[in-house]
Amino acid sequence: MKVYITRRIPESGIKLLREAGHEVAVSDKDGVLTKQELVGALKEHNPDAVIPLLTDTIDAEVFDSAPQAKVFASYSVGFNHINLDDAKSRGVIITNTPGVLTDTVAEYAVSMICAMTKRIVEGDQFTKKGEYKGWAPMLLLGADLKGKTLGVLGAGRIGSRVSEIMSKGFDMNIVYYDIKENEFLNTQVNAEFRSTPEDVLKEADVVTVHVPLLDSTRHLLNADRLAMMKPSAYLVNTSRGPVIDEQALVDVLKSNKIKGAALDVYEDEPNLAPGLAELDNVILTPHIASATQETREKMSEMAAKNVIAVLSGGEPINKVE
Ligand code: NAD
Repeated sequence: MKVYITRRIPESGIKLLREAGHEVAVSDKDGVLTKQELVGALKEHNPDAVIPLLTDTIDAEVFDSAPQAKVFASYSVGFNHINLDDAKSRGVIITNTPGVLTDTVAEYAVSMICAMTKRIVEGDQFTKKGEYKGWAPMLLLGADLKGKTLGVLGAGRIGSRVSEIMSKGFDMNIVYYDIKENEFLNTQVNAEFRSTPEDVLKEADVVTVHVPLLDSTRHLLNADRLAMMKPSAYLVNTSRGPVIDEQALVDVLKSNKIKGAALDVYEDEPNLAPGLAELDNVILTPHIASATQETREKMSEMAAKNVIAVLSGGEPINKVE
């Protein structure tokens, strides 16, 4: 059967699809397909399955341009780019790639926490610019992590792993907010549950965000909640941009109401809120938290396995409901 992939992904999954006897077509555009291009490509290929990316908006118009497609197997764990109601009403199965990127994204969030509190990016720029004139007692002072409090918003797979690393590896205290308590964190990591995001924000020295983008989490960090953070606190976001009101974040960073932020995701990617890139107290990276060779290959294989399962009449491994 025919599988259409909306952008080049690692070969490992494509190989699995071909070995299973499927015909695979991959968009040859070096970039994100526009809505019109995506619809046009689907009409042209009439695929039985589609592997889209988080940069593709998948809605009624897209589903209707691929009427044969039984499954859209997203090459991402987040699925906020897919209209699940439109999929359900057409009987189209949606799958994602949970788990395989958990450690990778958690390691990235931890790296951002370290880079920010130890001022590694500033130090790199300072040194490369030739500004380093010799050791100095007050040069680029950062902050310690041991004994401080990490506030975790969203304690699912990634949030739990970040908590575990920062508790066991860095001796941080962990407080977390989620819509449900996490037994593993309560019993194995000595983390404490807080019933509101406000409690976490007031208490934490570093806040790390790991909720999915849903109606209930859009602007979870709005101006009012950002104002509750300590002036000495740092904020890390590797989840989805719209979870934070980015312009409000620029305002609190500009007026030094918090110490710093490290962001991998943005509200209107790839655009940045006005003023964000000019700030010294932010680290900005281009949505690469899961971008390791190993993980991207596993994501490719997982998306392919979901397609193969559905096309052979079986149950997908990672169905999104
Ligand atoms: P997960 O589903 O395991 O965890 C999400 C947690 O958020 C769950 O525990 C859930 O109960 C909680 N949650 C849901 N709604 C909430 C709310 N309103 N308030 C508080 N908590 C709420 O997902 P995961 O695998 O840990 O991934 C988390 C998110 O990270 C993904 O949805 C994705 O958007 C993002 N992500 C980003 C990258 C990147 O490249 N930057 C990579 C992978 C994942």
